[in-house]
Amino acid sequence: MSSREKLKKYLAQRMELGVGKLVVRAEEPVAKPLALSQPVVKQETLFGGASAGLRDNPVRPDPNRTLESFYHEIKDCVRCPLGHTRTKFVFGVGNPKADIMFIGEAPGRDEDLQGEPFVGRAGKLLDKILEATGFAREEVYIANVLKCRPPENRDPQPEEMDTCSPYLLEQIRLINPKFIVCLGRIAAMQLLETKLALGRLRGAFHDFNGIKVMVTYHPAALLRFAEYKKDVWEDMKTLRRAYDGMELK
Ligand code: SF4
Repeated sequence: MSSREKLKKYLAQRMELGVGKLVVRAEEPVAKPLALSQPVVKQETLFGGASAGLRDNPVRPDPNRTLESFYHEIKDCVRCPLGHTRTKFVFGVGNPKADIMFIGEAPGRDEDLQGEPFVGRAGKLLDKILEATGFAREEVYIANVLKCRPPENRDPQPEEMDTCSPYLLEQIRLINPKFIVCLGRIAAMQLLETKLALGRLRGAFHDFNGIKVMVTYHPAALLRFAEYKKDVWEDMKTLRRAYDGMELK
């Protein structure tokens, strides 16, 4: 059997197993799920600014920058077309020194109107998830990859995410959390530079510059597919155990 036929057979088997579409390009680093006990594999590409989409990084180094001063630096951004269609810029909310940071993909209608992430139905569900896990909304930090709403809540475009990502990365650098929870595929794709399906990324911690990254379903997905709630609950229990273990050290 030729290599091409073998690859076709392999992909067909994956689809049958429901593993999802596999997209691999030779130059793409693929994130490996890491158990907590496994050695850390660094994901430094984005912070290093070497990623092709981030060459034009608007965030200049500033040792005096705070999260609040950073908000004032970027709140009028129009570096991509979404800056012209948004109602409000949605920077992020929560504890500027949070141990845990939650990252979604982009503001929706309610967030665009109020200028705060996760305030609609999905946001209420996130609050319940946090409460059930023993975290208050004020204790964590919540942000999105994009700071402006894509029209009609369409998926963010790759160029929009690459243009906006330096802002998120600077937020992560300033907050310096111990854990990041990627809410949904888009946030995971962007942060971990992976195209693996969300189902493959769940259930273990990944590493991003020494920060443990968990990937789970976006609360909006739970509103449509209630069967995912059990998985999210398992992920949150894992996060809570790891956080409590860290606190004891
Ligand atoms: S989405 Fe990001 S890059 Fe685009 S205008 Fe808004 S803040 Fe600027």
